Amino acid sequence: MRRARPWTRTRIEGPLGREVGCVEKTEAGNSIRGALPPVSNFQLLVSGLKMAHAEQLALPLGPPPDLSEVFRKVFSRMRIRSHVVSIGAQFHPFAGLRSTIMLRNGALKAQVSDLVAEASPLVIEALAEILLSKVFRRRPSREARECYLAYTFRPEIRRRIDEARRERSRKRLLPPRGRHHDLEAIFQELNQRFFQGQIPVSRLGWSRHHSRRILGHYDSGHETIIVSRKLDSPAIPRYLVEYIVYHEMLHVRFPVERRGHRRVVHSREFREAEKQFPQYESACRKLKHLGA
Ligand SMILES: [Zn+2]
Repeated sequence: MRRARPWTRTRIEGPLGREVGCVEKTEAGNSIRGALPPVSNFQLLVSGLKMAHAEQLALPLGPPPDLSEVFRKVFSRMRIRSHVVSIGAQFHPFAGLRSTIMLRNGALKAQVSDLVAEASPLVIEALAEILLSKVFRRRPSREARECYLAYTFRPEIRRRIDEARRERSRKRLLPPRGRHHDLEAIFQELNQRFFQGQIPVSRLGWSRHHSRRILGHYDSGHETIIVSRKLDSPAIPRYLVEYIVYHEMLHVRFPVERRGHRRVVHSREFREAEKQFPQYESACRKLKHLGA
């Protein structure tokens, strides 16, 4: 039978940017093709080991697995009682290491970042367990959490995530000079005053949408600080915008850390440094009023 012609073909890249496979979207659905030789028996041997440890071994990797199959396997291993009609999972070229899962009318559908396609089977199973736990309100095992977290913190994976973010999502921002506040001026002042001009940021701007909950955000992939447009208002004192920018600059100064199996976004050092902001307390009070 002739294979249906792909509509789209998405490369799956190895850590060095070499193509190790691809996702093809056709009339028949999505298929994942690997360019590397098949899995060796060696990998199967390892599934008996503790995940977090096994993950540290450098294993010869095969083609990306049939993701739906992985999810079905993990689902039955977790002995989830809920009735599920079908389980489908596929890789998707998200901008980062994002994955989604949903259960609708008994059909379970998951989309997993294609950056994970080249991870060891143990990592993919760990991620499946974490996602299934989310949907069925369970707590994923410690092994699964450690295994996946260890993977996401590997330097070559962080690099791939940042690259993918840069390539795939072009951040659309409004220019830093707003109607009422100028983010560029604020950033430069803060950088000189508190950081000896040492904070590198490629872009700075107002969000395109009014975000009520997220007032500021630092995107490490783009080295970009984004401030909610909601704050570009005469009702918002300048020091409050300064405080938000200062907070995001601290994210550059103190990157996300890993402690055991937790990600620490606001470390103790971060919190201490945050309190150095002159109007720290009134900024916090004001933000509470804004419902942030
Ligand atoms: Zn923060």
